Amino acid sequence: MDFGTQTFGGDIDQSMAVRLMQHLVVPTFVLDAERRVTIWNHACERLTGIPAAEMVGTSDHWRGFYNEPRHCLADLIALEKYDQLAELYAAHTTPGEFGFGLRAENWCVMPVKGERHYLAVDAGPIYDDHGTLIAIVETLRDMTDQKLAEMALQSLATKDSLTGLANRRSLDDKLELEWKCSLRAGTSLAFILADIDHFKHYNDHYGHQKGDECLRSVAGTIGAAVFRPADMTARYGGEEFAIVMPNTDLAGAHAVAERVCVAIRALAIPHAASETAPHITLSLGVAALVPDAGNSQETLIADADAALYRAKDSGRNRVSIASAV
Ligand code: GH3
Ligand code: MG
Ligand code: MG
Repeated sequence: MDFGTQTFGGDIDQSMAVRLMQHLVVPTFVLDAERRVTIWNHACERLTGIPAAEMVGTSDHWRGFYNEPRHCLADLIALEKYDQLAELYAAHTTPGEFGFGLRAENWCVMPVKGERHYLAVDAGPIYDDHGTLIAIVETLRDMTDQKLAEMALQSLATKDSLTGLANRRSLDDKLELEWKCSLRAGTSLAFILADIDHFKHYNDHYGHQKGDECLRSVAGTIGAAVFRPADMTARYGGEEFAIVMPNTDLAGAHAVAERVCVAIRALAIPHAASETAPHITLSLGVAALVPDAGNSQETLIADADAALYRAKDSGRNRVSIASAV
């Protein structure tokens, strides 16, 4: 095979190096020290849908990946703006951890193709013999399938499959975490237990399938009524739900529980076999406490459970709050 003037083991001339990079199966682009695109290889054209002719000579490389102008990883290296890494990328290495280069991951909107891709990005600087930056090479790896699989697994492990709410395991983890935070901060942690009234009669009357549908509607309505991002709504088990609310006192949690109780009433799911109302209703028990050496997570749960029992005992379709806090 004729390699012209190129010799392997010795120097490869520049045009050969460029040709190799153009045909590399890994999507790659190269910026010069002024951050202008000098190479936009064929794999990068395929990944982004943008031909090299549109890119080379411009500083528009962001257009391959994002809707709005922003720095890519190669720009951060050229500008030494490492402080922007966390803001611009979902995950990244720290400068120095990986030689002079950086590695990062991000969801990219890929505007021309109109499809979101999760890309793993490597970028590294190239210096001349005097240590002057002459180029930055950025290579991209499409990790969308792996990321989606990871997210699906994560969702399986943390979400209740019927309702889509957090599952019992996530709730336990959340309680554990918030308990520790509240103990350190000396703040109040609230816990609400909610239980559908006469749900056994509902299943018996309408069938298990309708029962499942009802559980989904109730779960969605509870979730929508709890909107602080720090709070967690979970399926506690069967027809029972729980809400964990950090930094919330008994009065605050009482207000949330009332809102949930009213929202379920307003859903007006017919329940002809209920002994309480002609529609689905909820009973709720509310507890809150400031963690200290004399109490525990179990105390908080037991208080909410006792309050729920009182709500059931005093007629259902209501909120009851823990007496001793
Ligand atoms: P109370 O007002 O005292 O809470 O009465 P209840 O009938 O709601 O309570 P009980 O604990 O006697 O019954 C709970 C029912 O919830 C029984 C069970 O079949 C039903 N259930 C639990 N999990 C599911 C589920 O995933 N799907 C359906 N369809 N029903 C469920
Ligand atoms: Mg129950
Ligand atoms: Mg019940």
